[in-house]
Amino acid sequence: MTTMSSSDLDNSLSPETAQLRSAVCTHCGCVCDDLTATIEDQRITRIENACSLSEEWFLAQTATPDLRFEIEGQSVSPEEAIEKTADILGQAQSPLIHGLARSSTPGQRAAVELADRIGAIIDTSASMCHAPSILAFQRVGESTCTLGEVRNRSDLVIFWGSNPVESHPRHLERYSGDVAGLFVPHGRSDRTLVVVDTQETETSDAADLFLKIEPESAFDVLWTLRSLLAGKTVTDARVGGIAIEQLQALAEKMRGCQFGAAFFGLGLARGPLGHQNVEALLQLVTDANDHTRFIARRMRNYGDVAGADSVLCWQTGYPFSVNLSRGYPRYNPGEFSAFDLLARGDVDAAFLIGSDGLNKIPDAALDFLRQIPTIYLAPADTEPPFVPTVRLTSGTYGIHDYGTAYRMDEVPIPLKPIFANEVPMDETLIQSVLEILP
Ligand code: SF4
Repeated sequence: MTTMSSSDLDNSLSPETAQLRSAVCTHCGCVCDDLTATIEDQRITRIENACSLSEEWFLAQTATPDLRFEIEGQSVSPEEAIEKTADILGQAQSPLIHGLARSSTPGQRAAVELADRIGAIIDTSASMCHAPSILAFQRVGESTCTLGEVRNRSDLVIFWGSNPVESHPRHLERYSGDVAGLFVPHGRSDRTLVVVDTQETETSDAADLFLKIEPESAFDVLWTLRSLLAGKTVTDARVGGIAIEQLQALAEKMRGCQFGAAFFGLGLARGPLGHQNVEALLQLVTDANDHTRFIARRMRNYGDVAGADSVLCWQTGYPFSVNLSRGYPRYNPGEFSAFDLLARGDVDAAFLIGSDGLNKIPDAALDFLRQIPTIYLAPADTEPPFVPTVRLTSGTYGIHDYGTAYRMDEVPIPLKPIFANEVPMDETLIQSVLEILP
């Protein structure tokens, strides 16, 4: 049931026009919650504070999305699609449930309940993005804080293997760049911005210091910084293509700042040494806490991928790649990661729920998906890269219903609907499947 509180809505504009303040964007891991949507004739006609990534998406949203229920590409009733879904999952010996980044806490919770009931392997979009970072956290821990603390305290911000100007367009404006905070009242002029990357980016153009390192050299550069921070002498003239004097200067900045924040992206976390790179960065940040306060944070790409990790953690004990086929959870990234399972042909049905990033699916996994029964459940604005056996369409949390999305710093942000009419959500569709499962 979707209703909005009167304090959120301003209906004074005209009889047909309303404004929703504090609308929330779930397009990237910033989960900005300060948008204002103007609603006319059941459409969003204006969206304030949206960025270049999300404005067009908001303006395409309507109160009545194109809900598609299909079997083998042919239109069917919602009941028939739900029955076919239950039929496929009921017969499967080794089903896979994957995705959840475009979902929200209610849908993610229902997906775990379904996985538990049918003994499925459940994996999230994290397994193809920040999975190596999660493995690194599990080995060495993390020094962390909320983005609010970064906004109010950080006078040194490092982006490593991340280009937020393109991927998270409001990150600098809201938390890490221009924004003034309690202990950095002059915003950008109180803050030193450092970018470490293998290529020039829009963010490196805006930085005070850009270290362009050689590909696959991050691990060496990070360990050199650890040595320099510890006051050791490094005899190499250059490491990773960077003069040792520049690395020494960065180590000094880290030692001398009031509050440092290192944000890292897939440029650091993916690749052959991904988890070891992240481990090295986390240890560098831990070392920096001997001198000052320093934190590390992942730049999460997909809207609620952090929520998917959280829900799986609190329900199964593990954040992704969880096998429930024996009636208790087993965790083994790689063995139980969705795309690896598909590439090896180790599942016999797949239920993709709110999957983001399917454009990155390897060819072998996609070929196998085309050979097995598949169910695709997602909001109307997504298209699968294959024709699924069953397609179900849901509304979008924060547009058509309440929900919760976890920001990249794991702060839960409540989502309010922009439209007040009822649209089926993934939670209700999954519950309908659960009710008729054999
Ligand atoms: S920065 Fe991300 S969450 Fe914020 S408005 Fe842009 S796309 Fe949405």
